[in-house]
Amino acid sequence: MIAITLLGTGTPIPDPNRAGPATLIQAGEENYLVDAGRGVLMRLAAAGCGANMLDAVLITHLHSDHITDLNDVITSAWVTTFSEQKPLQIVGPPGIKEAVDRLLHFLSSDIGYRIAHHADLNDPPAVNVIEIESGVVEFEGDVKISTEPTDHRPVDPTIAFRFDYQNDAVVVAGDTIPCAGLDKLCTGAQGLVHTAIRKDVIENIPIQRLQDVCDYHSSVEEASQTAERAEINTLVLTHYVPAFPSGQGDEWKEIASQHFSGEIELGDDLHRVEIGE
Ligand SMILES: [Zn+2]
Ligand SMILES: [Zn+2]
Repeated sequence: MIAITLLGTGTPIPDPNRAGPATLIQAGEENYLVDAGRGVLMRLAAAGCGANMLDAVLITHLHSDHITDLNDVITSAWVTTFSEQKPLQIVGPPGIKEAVDRLLHFLSSDIGYRIAHHADLNDPPAVNVIEIESGVVEFEGDVKISTEPTDHRPVDPTIAFRFDYQNDAVVVAGDTIPCAGLDKLCTGAQGLVHTAIRKDVIENIPIQRLQDVCDYHSSVEEASQTAERAEINTLVLTHYVPAFPSGQGDEWKEIASQHFSGEIELGDDLHRVEIGE
């Protein structure tokens, strides 16, 4: 069984009830965080998981809403590990190494204070950053993680992640329009977590900057068609643009069901879906 918890179902626009994009994938004893949006560690704590319990942090792309709290994950994993520090594994598309290096630079004053203050903290946060665009991520562990490129241009490169555990597989798509890389990754998987926007709503708002987001995201229809093409069993929609009030996602489900014949899941932050036995 693979458990999916939507830690943050929001977007770049601050929302009092929806944290920024982040998803927790749990299988066996392992915990994987996909993206680290606004408020991620508060939601992770609510899901019963601490930064020091993460086996890896996987970043789909470097848009600010998906990485804005990555610094908090790095700091918290560091200061709440009381035994020997093992490096925090961070995986992302090319560019993630430089982004993490810059975050560590941004944190350098704090890192200096803590090392000076705590006799048992001698080294800055240990991170192991892996850049990948396609293929299997080299990890120890029971969960096999693989990636393929997605299409969120001009944001480039961007990737999706697939988690295989025993007989189950879940794909977390990130932001993308329908593309061959995502189709490939989804083949044979049971669960798909996909960001989606209501283009039918956004296209009618006379603000160009909002309308711009339509050309590099999947609509609800497109995300559903991707799931249908790959014969996915359960589609989990997240990253709702525009956000719907709690309990009022029926219209989204209705649209998705016109293009996808499997189970459709959506909801509030901390919505949890189990895939497989
Ligand atoms: Zn994005
Ligand atoms: Zn986004």
